[in-house]
Amino acid sequence: MYMNYPSVLLIYTGGTIGMIENPATGTLESFNFDLLLNHVPELKRFNYRISSYQFDPPLDSSDMEPSLWAKLVKIIAYNYDNYDGFVILHGTDTMSYTASALSFMLENLNKPVILTGSQLPIGTLRTDGKENLITAIEIAAAKNSDGTPIVPEVCIFFENHLMRGNRTGKINAEHFNAFRSFNYPPLAKAGIHIKYEPHLILKPDPSKPLKPHYLLDTNVVILTLFPGLSESIVNSLLHVPGLKAVILKTYGSGNAPKRNGLSGRLKKLSTEASLLSISLNVLQELWRWKGMKPV
Ligand code: ASP
Repeated sequence: MYMNYPSVLLIYTGGTIGMIENPATGTLESFNFDLLLNHVPELKRFNYRISSYQFDPPLDSSDMEPSLWAKLVKIIAYNYDNYDGFVILHGTDTMSYTASALSFMLENLNKPVILTGSQLPIGTLRTDGKENLITAIEIAAAKNSDGTPIVPEVCIFFENHLMRGNRTGKINAEHFNAFRSFNYPPLAKAGIHIKYEPHLILKPDPSKPLKPHYLLDTNVVILTLFPGLSESIVNSLLHVPGLKAVILKTYGSGNAPKRNGLSGRLKKLSTEASLLSISLNVLQELWRWKGMKPV
């Protein structure tokens, strides 16, 4: 009966959107996903086939990790041919990390994968969860007149904005606009209508099959530079056993202090200790591959 209706797989990982207040303790606890759907009866008004998969137990997104990203990739890859799009309900704290990781793990993605969540639990009166969920589902199912998906990429939809997932960061824990897309404009804005910006949306090659990646190497450290960063801390980080890569968060357009010998030490390590040095060329390759432009 549902054969020709748009179809969406809803994957519930956890987060505030699925919490409810325990009347005895006043604390927020996760509740069953079926109950969550009871709080959004509007979903029944969609002429869509909506199926769901839930993480058991649901996670606070601070517990998200690469093995769970691999699990998400597996769920999407396994169900890829059976749905028009995917919506992932996720806690806001690490949603940008998950969106970024999935955008690289789902190579040749040709269908929408939309992450969303909320600042207020879906059972509360002023929740932002309902709108976020309903619009995310609509975007995941949206098609062009030729039947191709409008947004074939990994995105975050939050508070009226559809953003490229790997350009986002959480900027707000107090207000409904929790995310911002840095260095890339929103792909769509939801008002009375959802206004897409087709020229900003990726156009993947539909002839290429989805190539899911499951393995991520976690022997990586992020070194954030700040005035006063001590030499001993840098040294201990750079000598962690098994370390394969150092990502430097530098100043301005890539500047680092010249006086404490940091660049010399990194150069030495990258040649002697087979540290993977990510050069600007490699980054530019990645940017090209994901259709991004360095700004
Ligand atoms: N701590 C929650 C989480 O990230 C916050 C949220 O869902 O917004 O899972």
